[in-house]
Amino acid sequence: MHISIHKTTNSSLSTVDFSDLPFGKIKSDHMFIVDYSDKKWHSPRIVPYDNIPLSPATSALHYGQAIFEGMKAQLSPSGVPLIFRADQNFARMNKSAERMCMPTLPKSLFMDGLTQLIALDKNWIPKGDGQSLYIRPFMFATDDSVGVRVSETYSFIIFTSPVSPYYAHPLKIKVADKYVRAFNGGVGAAKAAGNYGASMLPTKEAYSQGYHQVMWMDGHEFRYIEETGTTNIFFVVGDKVITPALDGNILDGVTRKSCIQLLEDAGVTVEQKRVDINELIEAHNQGQLLDAFCTGTAASVMHIELFNYIGEDIVLPQVAERQWSNYLHKKLDAIKCGLEPDNHGWILALNETATSSS
Ligand SMILES: *Cc1c(COP(=O)(O)O)cnc(C)c1O
Repeated sequence: MHISIHKTTNSSLSTVDFSDLPFGKIKSDHMFIVDYSDKKWHSPRIVPYDNIPLSPATSALHYGQAIFEGMKAQLSPSGVPLIFRADQNFARMNKSAERMCMPTLPKSLFMDGLTQLIALDKNWIPKGDGQSLYIRPFMFATDDSVGVRVSETYSFIIFTSPVSPYYAHPLKIKVADKYVRAFNGGVGAAKAAGNYGASMLPTKEAYSQGYHQVMWMDGHEFRYIEETGTTNIFFVVGDKVITPALDGNILDGVTRKSCIQLLEDAGVTVEQKRVDINELIEAHNQGQLLDAFCTGTAASVMHIELFNYIGEDIVLPQVAERQWSNYLHKKLDAIKCGLEPDNHGWILALNETATSSS
């Protein structure tokens, strides 16, 4: 499908202070939009970033058919835009769409919209250490009706935002004992907007008690670990790395699967299984809980300083002593900005040939 391009005549690029990029606040010049009605996607276009008119009855605002993705682009040392594992975000987006009873997007439309948008706003990719262009694709129901039913119309949009690295300080985590993020048969595995809405109050309460994030547990017993905040979670116990297995409640993170691959490449055994918190506390008591970290696109790999389980702080070793979280953080960053070989075909490089078809 041909994507029409309407370029801005009023770029805000020169007004941006790239040394001060509060996460997600600043938007690049353009956005990609495609609409769905009469059972098909139509009118794909790249237009200047702007507000979009919405009816007060817009069905996503009432009934929550709204999903999103998050990924990043960085510049190679020679200035070529590199996008990390976009095919994975595309596939997950369509899985989320299916669960939320929304239409799936053809791969070519997602990839063409993405690559043409990034090529056009290439100069928005920041060059500073750890900085990147955050990419936000999302889809929402646009029926102009408060009748409760599956929407017949949708919009899919991609916009981008230059960002600095996310919080770098180690996290203090509160293990959930009251709230549940996801339940068997629910939408935990979908990147659905409502999952985030539901997590705001528990996170705010944890914050007011001195913690940065909530460790989400299974909803039956509050015993098996699922995720932390909006990231996946890993533990190093002795010489093994363990992470909760994807059980239908857990979001299948791209950073998670990349870390598992990099660990296996390094000869480390990664066990994906049900992770019982009692097992971790036992390991901690024996001095075997060496590391705990969270993974996600926005934040990459984040160290966990401690987690609080029914009133008791489980404090992890000094960050400088942590082998695998430090290794993964460096390795992932280096691959994403083209400083280390891309052995798994994770990087989409937007050199001239890749974008000349537009
Ligand atoms: C997006 C997200 C993640 C991390 O996924 P990445 O693909 O690594 O960014 C983890 N958990 C939840 C709940 C998420 O929404």
